[in-house]
Amino acid sequence: MNIINPATGAIISTIKSDTREDLNTKLANLRQGQKSWAKKTVEERLNCIKKYGELIQENKDKLAHILTSETGKPLQQSLNEIQGAQNRVTHLSQNAKQWLAPEVLVHKGTTLERIKYEPLGVIANISAWNFPYNVGYNVFLYALVAGNSVLYKPSEYAALTGKQFEYYLHQSGVPKDVFQCVIGDGRLGQQILESKVDGYFFTGSHKTGLHIYQTVASKMVPVQLELGGKDPLYVADDVVDVKQAAINAAEGAFYNNGQSCCAVERIYIAVGIYDEFVKAFTEEVKSYKIGDPSDLSTFIGPLTRGEQLKVLKDQIADAIAKGANLLSGGKAIEGKGYYFEPTVLANCNHDMKVMVEESFGPIIGLQKVDSDEEVIELMLDTEYGLTSAVFSSNEERAMNILDAMNTGTVYWNCCDRVSPNLPWSGRKNSGIGSTLSSQGIRAFVQPKAYHLRKT
Ligand code: NAD
Repeated sequence: MNIINPATGAIISTIKSDTREDLNTKLANLRQGQKSWAKKTVEERLNCIKKYGELIQENKDKLAHILTSETGKPLQQSLNEIQGAQNRVTHLSQNAKQWLAPEVLVHKGTTLERIKYEPLGVIANISAWNFPYNVGYNVFLYALVAGNSVLYKPSEYAALTGKQFEYYLHQSGVPKDVFQCVIGDGRLGQQILESKVDGYFFTGSHKTGLHIYQTVASKMVPVQLELGGKDPLYVADDVVDVKQAAINAAEGAFYNNGQSCCAVERIYIAVGIYDEFVKAFTEEVKSYKIGDPSDLSTFIGPLTRGEQLKVLKDQIADAIAKGANLLSGGKAIEGKGYYFEPTVLANCNHDMKVMVEESFGPIIGLQKVDSDEEVIELMLDTEYGLTSAVFSSNEERAMNILDAMNTGTVYWNCCDRVSPNLPWSGRKNSGIGSTLSSQGIRAFVQPKAYHLRKT
């Protein structure tokens, strides 16, 4: 499989894809290895994960360059991701023992009722490229600590990084027959769906997620899907500092080139501050440094996948044809690599694709609203349900709106943020199930109920 640098279009590496035979061998080994891994104590398994975290931090410069070279993520953002993902290791270290401990619910006379949490077995993690550390760790670290073995298929756009996860996990004491990385594209993913595993944990697009859900339904094993979003942000007219709100909103929309599942994808602005906000927002976006992602000062690099350029062009043409004003950007940048100008479209409405379909790139639609009632209706007008955000100085006002949202996550005066303490879950087309928090580890175990009576 050729690995392409999206900043130049050049092939930077060629690695071997796994065949169906490789996949079968790896799965058979994982089946075997899981038995002894599950017998280890949580502490023993955690020790490997802690060691892994240390090794990753020690090697973060090298790893950040690898991530940047295959995804085009600006180097500073690659470093931020690797550093930030370490909070999953800390979180597990502090909580996993307690979450996985058996629970005694009743101990009365001769009766004992207790729950034991048992691993699922061999789980498959089919993953995405946009934040491979974050979304990978959310699954495979938690699954390993819970006593499962893991077949990890990184995205074909983050395969080199996936091989690094495997290398450092093995270096940290996770046995080779407990974590295996397989290299390939959707065709290999399809073969995983046809194989025997005890749970599917997927991060990626709604289209692939739905296909996985339907394909494995008859297996009756847990399926968890972390899918896309069309996340709204409302800027109310009582924000203390309109310029600062514009800067924060722009970062939420354009960080990682807009290629975040929880990127701000549409912004509603109260009529009273609309002009001031739009001006400040556009100025901020025009100030972004676009260029070589391996330069630490670059904020906007290339898109990871060349095909996405067409999606963006199409959304922009559609919006302009329906009356949107193009305030910045609007086209691909000529030359090498998959660069697209950061694009701001004002005067948008829900007849336009840019306000209803996931863009997953550096473009944003802005829409003027007259009231909180109107904005609630617009924010709810979506097939997705990942996050919703409100910027307002009035907590009660913000909560009224956020309480009405049908999303797994809501934000007040912040956005595009994930915390290991809180469950990460999508509703509707954004997915099924939760990662992170105590819920995120329970996803990798099955409860066994013990009804015990001494005679
Ligand atoms: P994708 O669906 O194209 O690919 C995801 C993975 O699925 C890849 O590993 C791919 O090889 C594999 N795959 C493709 N076809 C398959 C098949 N038929 N069977 C099995 N596997 C198959 O998604 P992507 O482009 O990698 O990721 C971008 C999407 O992921 C966006 O929609 C984004 O919003 C979403 N995402 C969601 C979250 C979240 O936590 N909710 C996080 C990151 C990304």
